[in-house]
Amino acid sequence: MTTGTTTTTTTSVLHGIGTGGGSASGPVARMAPPAALPPQRTVAPADAPAQAEAARGALARVAADLEERAASAGGEAAAVLSAQAMMAADPTLADQVSELVLGGADAAHALDRAFRVFRASLTAAGGYFAERVADLDDLRDRAVARVLGLPMPGLPDPGRPYVLVADDLAPADTALLDPAQVLALVTERGGPTSHTAILAKVLGLPAVVGCTGAAALTDGTPVLVDGTAGTVLVHPAPDTVAAAAARDERRRRLSAQAVGPGRTADGHPVKLLANLGALHELPAAAAADSEGVGLFRTEFLYLDREEAPTGEEQTAAYRQVFAAFPGRRVVVRTLDAGADKPLPFVTAADEQNPALGVRGLRSARRDPQLLETQLAAIASAARGSDADVWVMAPMVSVPAEAAGFVERAKAHGLRTAGAMVEVPAAALRAGELARRCDFLSVGTNDLAQYAFAADRTLGALADLLDPWQPALLELVRTAAGAGAEQGRPVGVCGEAAADPLLALVLVGLGVTSLSAAPGCLGDVRASLASHALDDCRRLAGLALAAPDAAAAREAVAKGAGLTP
Ligand code: PEP
Ligand code: MG
Repeated sequence: MTTGTTTTTTTSVLHGIGTGGGSASGPVARMAPPAALPPQRTVAPADAPAQAEAARGALARVAADLEERAASAGGEAAAVLSAQAMMAADPTLADQVSELVLGGADAAHALDRAFRVFRASLTAAGGYFAERVADLDDLRDRAVARVLGLPMPGLPDPGRPYVLVADDLAPADTALLDPAQVLALVTERGGPTSHTAILAKVLGLPAVVGCTGAAALTDGTPVLVDGTAGTVLVHPAPDTVAAAAARDERRRRLSAQAVGPGRTADGHPVKLLANLGALHELPAAAAADSEGVGLFRTEFLYLDREEAPTGEEQTAAYRQVFAAFPGRRVVVRTLDAGADKPLPFVTAADEQNPALGVRGLRSARRDPQLLETQLAAIASAARGSDADVWVMAPMVSVPAEAAGFVERAKAHGLRTAGAMVEVPAAALRAGELARRCDFLSVGTNDLAQYAFAADRTLGALADLLDPWQPALLELVRTAAGAGAEQGRPVGVCGEAAADPLLALVLVGLGVTSLSAAPGCLGDVRASLASHALDDCRRLAGLALAAPDAAAAREAVAKGAGLTP
């Protein structure tokens, strides 16, 4: 334990799963959960005016807050916030709240019910209006929190850069996250392949997920988040913060020196590609030194949508992406809805085990038109584009599914079609899959989840989800070997590809491309450039021979000369 030099506060350490690499320090700001409604009480007629006033006042205050934020935001965010402010200021909403209070409801329940009615009418109106439901739910949460005197839910806005601490982050929670304000992420839940971990890499932020004890971190507490070590130092000493910053600077310098196509020290080519989610990630992905996009997660474009996007709308979005990669490859993954990424217009709400349910390509069993529309939109956007457009299906389990997908893709004029290997059955029969596809792409995140029967969002099972698990690497080896026999490229696009040391092992196992968040590619490129292919094969052998993930990591680090 160390103590700070400017205060007598003792430094303490929290442990979790580090991701995103590097470190950052700053004050904590917590993401508050939506306020729970207290038990309903009947308001006496004499109290009704005060309750109605409180509820109307909460709506007005929420509208004013949003207007203020809109004024300082600018661009697209300003328009979204202003539109939300107008909804909060809607006089019909305020009148309905007053009516409900006069009928005996307390202020919080009156607000909740009025928003429910508003929500139902927007949903029924469909189209653009239905898309505003998520904004309305946010308003409801804000108004109820205000009337109950509780902290505002959602992303904090402390007015200075902060370390975001949350129980967990859903993809939709983070849509408005401002990377200029957020220094690092810390979550109590989540595993190494959770979407918080993925988002951290996309934003180039250090993160610690599955961090036991994060719940006790209070607003304003200074912390140092180390995404490489997986630690959160609470009240760090200034010299510790300075040493971490110097280490980061050195790592950045080394990765900036490695440029150009990925290759090992002896020139064996390994395509380095970028993962892409929401469209706002596009400029960074296009600017990255990469050979294109290895995984375009199309479902991220439509997470908050109640209704399926039209073909025209999808074509416009895909065209935008292809236009950013002239002469480069873009691998478009068809919608992977379900489990941790439910899409309201696809995912059934009543599945007992969504991760094992009708998700990914399986959605086409229930709604074949959804896949047809998407393939047609991708094909239409690809026509006349200079990008080399590939398509792949998520959650393929058997060769017949791969064959069916490839047949549909080709019928739409898409030249290169493949399957993801995310289910152990697909890895074990990868040769049969590869015979029916142009390429395979291993999704190590889901492959780990299904191989180890461990929910990828559970920090408590992080050791099982560790991408260094030898059994997972064995499945990768099987898939890569089968692909090579069929003369088909086999890439990795799960989070494993972002680890510079593990990248050596993957290449040694026969993987031909690595796709990761753009910010991680420099470190991976630098690592490949300093090891020959035979070296990678030797390291892969060490990892496969290890009894567990920790031993595999240690043996490879030692074998690569990184530790004594
Ligand atoms: C994977 O499962 O490894 C993958 C790349 O897909 P996602 O993380 O989007 O499920
Ligand atoms: Mg997956």
